[in-house]
Amino acid sequence: MTTRTALVTGANKGIGLAIARGLGAAGFRVGVGARDERRRREAVDRLRAQGVDAFGVALDVTDDASVAAAAATLEQTAGHLDVLVNNAGIGGGTENGAQDPTTLDLDVLRTVLDTNVFGVVRVTNAMLPLLRCSDAPRIVNMSSNMGSLTLQTGPQMAAYAPSKSMLNSVTAQYARRLADTNIIVNAACPGYVATDFTGHSSTRTPEEGAAIAVRLATLPDDGPRGGFFDDAGSVPW
Ligand code: NDP
Repeated sequence: MTTRTALVTGANKGIGLAIARGLGAAGFRVGVGARDERRRREAVDRLRAQGVDAFGVALDVTDDASVAAAAATLEQTAGHLDVLVNNAGIGGGTENGAQDPTTLDLDVLRTVLDTNVFGVVRVTNAMLPLLRCSDAPRIVNMSSNMGSLTLQTGPQMAAYAPSKSMLNSVTAQYARRLADTNIIVNAACPGYVATDFTGHSSTRTPEEGAAIAVRLATLPDDGPRGGFFDDAGSVPW
C-alpha cells in the first residue's frame, strides 16, 4: 500500500501542529507547511521526536511562487496527496478598535482575506492535481463559528469573521464542483482554543481543537460533503 500523505498549512504551531500530530498518529506521512524556515524545522523535529513521519514544506499561502514550489515539492516527495488541511489563518488584530466595521481599515481586511480566503483557494487549486491522484482525497478548511451568519458569535471582528463566512462559502463551492469526484471537502470549527492566536486565553487544548479536522480528514468514502462541523456535529452556516 502506498503511504498516505497529508499537507497541513500553518503547521508549525497551534492547532496546525496538533493536526499534523493527529494525522501522523493516524498513519499519514505529514507535510508540515510553514513559511518560516526555522519554525518549520523545529516543528518537523518535534513531530519526528513524537514518532510522526513528518517532512517540511516551505509554504507561504499568500505567495503564488511559494505555493507552486510547495506543490512541486510534494509531487517529487510523494507523487500524490491524500489530505489537504487548509489551517493557516490570521486574525488581523483587535488593537484600538481595529475590527470595528465602522472604522475598518481596508488594508486589514485585504490582509486577512489574502491569507484566510485567497490563500485557501491558491493552495487548494495548486494541490488539486495531486489530490486527484489519491484513492480517498479529503480537503478540510479550518473555519470558525465566528464565520457563522446564523450564530453571530464571539467578539466583533469585522475582518476576521467575514473572512471565515467567505471561506465557508468557498468550501461549499468546492464541494459542489467536486460532487461527482472522490474528493470530499468540508469546513471545520475547532472551538475556542489556547494558542498564540487567542493569547492562550482558553483551557481547550490544540489537540482538542484539532480533533474535528483529523476526523474530517479521515472520513469514509460515504462521509458528509460540503458541510461545516465541530465536535458536536453540524454548525449552522
Ligand atoms: P496560530 O496563530 O497559533 O497559528 C496560525 C498558523 O498559521 C501559524 O503556523 C502561522 O505561521 C500560520 N500562518 C499564518 N499566515 C500564514 C501564511 N501566509 N502562510 C503560511 N502560514 C501562515 O493560530 P491557531 O492555531 O489558533 O489557528 C489555526 C486556524 O484555526 C486558523 O485558521 C484560525 O482562524 C482557526 N481558528 C482558531 C481558533 C482558536 O480558538 N484558536 C478558533 C476558530 C478558528 P507563523 O508561525 O509563521 O505565523
